[in-house]
Amino acid sequence: MEGNQEIKVALVTGASRGIGRACAIALGKAGFTVAVNYNSNEAAADEVVNIIKEAGSDAMKVKANVADLNEVKAMMREVTKTYGRLDVLVNNAGIVQDEFVLMMTPDAIDKCLDLNIKGYLYCSQQAALKMFSKKKGCIINMSSVSSKLAVPGQSVYSSTKGAVNSMTATMAKELAPYGIRVNAVAPGFIATDMVDKLPEDKKAQYIDEIPLKRFGRPEEIGDVVAMLASDACSYLTGQVIVLDGGLSL
Ligand code: NAP
Repeated sequence: MEGNQEIKVALVTGASRGIGRACAIALGKAGFTVAVNYNSNEAAADEVVNIIKEAGSDAMKVKANVADLNEVKAMMREVTKTYGRLDVLVNNAGIVQDEFVLMMTPDAIDKCLDLNIKGYLYCSQQAALKMFSKKKGCIINMSSVSSKLAVPGQSVYSSTKGAVNSMTATMAKELAPYGIRVNAVAPGFIATDMVDKLPEDKKAQYIDEIPLKRFGRPEEIGDVVAMLASDACSYLTGQVIVLDGGLSL
């Protein structure tokens, strides 16, 4: 990590699987101490913690449903009590609710908005409260290429990711005076459990539409997130970095 200064602490939400797991491991390999948030899959979170420790950095698991403000507050307390600081937040935990607009249920809408929007707002606010007195910090929001492309069946999901892009820009401006940078990453199709659930014919169709002719790997997102968290990106704020193999071109 940057020189041999103090070791920075990063919290990654939804880090037990998929993209969050890759972000946590990439940050650990870059020298950050990492808090690995999970919702239900404790064994998977333990595995991520072990991988980070084997790579030479410290790590802890922390259980919280990040759609619940009280659980978010308890998670932040646990992390800062353990490590005494918080330098980086990666808002990653998210769900997809694919449904044709006429078939959407209120419950599906609520679940998606609660986690993908409110969860990001709760975590950002609570993290910024820990960061602002030090006048340094970094928040990275996991958006999606669905925020920019019209993908049938994703009206709820894409609304939440559009909101993520908007909150990224607004928070970047609000928090800049406190030295806190806020950026977003917008992945295209990445090979995780989320994309695995798609029917095979749909997967083949999407791969055909991607100029690089393949889905991305979670590690390809994790590496960019670790770079955004580093001082190499100290002048970068308010941006949405699209990582989609050219899909949105
Ligand atoms: P995933 O494989 O389904 O993993 C989801 C992760 O989120 C798991 O670690 C899960 O924890 C956690 N989680 C779920 N609900 C939670 C809650 N209420 N509180 C805390 N954690 C919770 O998802 P993914 O594909 O890696 O996606 C991660 C992010 O990237 C999402 O924001 C998604 O919208 C975005 N994204 C994904 C793709 C893609 O192609 N995969 C593309 C664009 C954007 P447990 O293991 O404990 O359940």
